[in-house]
Amino acid sequence: MKKHNFYAGPSILPEVVYEKTKEAIDDLYGSGVSLMSISHRSKEFQSVMDEAQDLFKELLDIPDGYHVLFLGGGASSQFYMIPYNLMKGKASYLNTGTWAKKAIKEAKLFGEIIEVASSADKGFNYIPRGYNVPADVDYMHITTNNTIAGTEIKEDLDFGVTLVADMSSDILSRPVDVSKYGVIYGGAQKNLGPAGVTFVIVKEDILGKVDRQIPTMIDYRTHIAKGSMFNTPPVLPVFSVLQTLKWLKGLGGVEVMQKINQEKASLLYAEIDRNKLFKPGVPDERDRSLMNITFVMNEEYKDLDKDFLELAAERDIVGIKGHRSVGGFRASTYNALPKKSVEVLVKAMQDFEKKV
Ligand SMILES: *Cc1c(COP(=O)(O)O)cnc(C)c1O
Repeated sequence: MKKHNFYAGPSILPEVVYEKTKEAIDDLYGSGVSLMSISHRSKEFQSVMDEAQDLFKELLDIPDGYHVLFLGGGASSQFYMIPYNLMKGKASYLNTGTWAKKAIKEAKLFGEIIEVASSADKGFNYIPRGYNVPADVDYMHITTNNTIAGTEIKEDLDFGVTLVADMSSDILSRPVDVSKYGVIYGGAQKNLGPAGVTFVIVKEDILGKVDRQIPTMIDYRTHIAKGSMFNTPPVLPVFSVLQTLKWLKGLGGVEVMQKINQEKASLLYAEIDRNKLFKPGVPDERDRSLMNITFVMNEEYKDLDKDFLELAAERDIVGIKGHRSVGGFRASTYNALPKKSVEVLVKAMQDFEKKV
């Protein structure tokens, strides 16, 4: 690719994913038929689905009793599928930003929601700590990486209740102890593949406990029973996800990925902290996301935003304008972003400082 791509989503994927997907659009596995036009019941596509589920399990070391599903509807549809399947009367949510708020809004249609803590008082620029989760909730919901504000929960939490996590923007960026979670879900388009497929890792024995009628397509058990092939799955995005998983395995897996991500993020945070023009969006280092790095101009340089964006564009850097609700800048440093791109951005920041 010709650009240094820092878009937050859809976002950069490994080069090999574009190549393999193009090949499969021409001809899937020598079948003589395009990936887009082959039956999802064909042995060729069945092997794509099976391999993607198996490799996901292998890379995240997913224990027995869990299923990997590839569904439609985006992470946003999980905001209602989760309470539909899991909430008997009461659930708790941690409010860490835009996506958490949307999840809370949907869940309120199903029962009592306890917001155990919120970082809204400081524009969601930190991760709350030291709150209590009631023991009698049906589940506790967290957003591990807050794509917009740039905060991240980097360890596996344990509250003694079923834990549900939106990992849309940090899935497979580090090892996760899946046994601590009831459900892990997310849209693929941040760290995994093209838009159009949603991954759901679900523990089977937490299902079937609610009294309400669940429409067939919304019931996780439907998709578990059919290996994520109850209806036509998003075949092209699933194929691309498989290529990303293969790339990640080839790299050495999530431990290696985590090290690379830490390196890339440290490089950029160090420059934000050093450079007199900029300050980090997230003050507490513990809470800083390794995937979405937010920063703003210091007060006295406030009107230089546009000039910096122009300099960045001249250097083939795209996608660093901050989310409209936060302002400033956001560099998304997902798995597939080469370290070279971070170096180019850091150099641009240094050169801009000299010019001012
Ligand atoms: C992007 C994002 C979503 C929304 O995903 P869709 O697939 O567009 O519905 C939800 N949660 C987080 C953390 C996200 O980054």
